Amino acid sequence: MKIKQKETNRMNIVKKWMSGKPSHCDICRQPFDSADKYFYDFKTSTGPWGLGCEECFKNNNGQLGVGHGQKYSLKTLEKIGK
Ligand SMILES: [Zn+2]
Repeated sequence: MKIKQKETNRMNIVKKWMSGKPSHCDICRQPFDSADKYFYDFKTSTGPWGLGCEECFKNNNGQLGVGHGQKYSLKTLEKIGK
């Protein structure tokens, strides 16, 4: 998806989602609300990448990491973990 980050910067810069706060999960179409703390950018089981909620992430392999998925805070849009 649309994310601006350089591999070379990864040691120093907090990675942040740059496309604006997502309003809903691309997979199940449910809007994110205050109960949702995180959203995920991940490779779905059918191939394409999608932006989704925790439940959909878990239903689509649920792995974090390069080539799998990334986790972001809905509040700060900062990337969580690796
Ligand atoms: Zn979902």
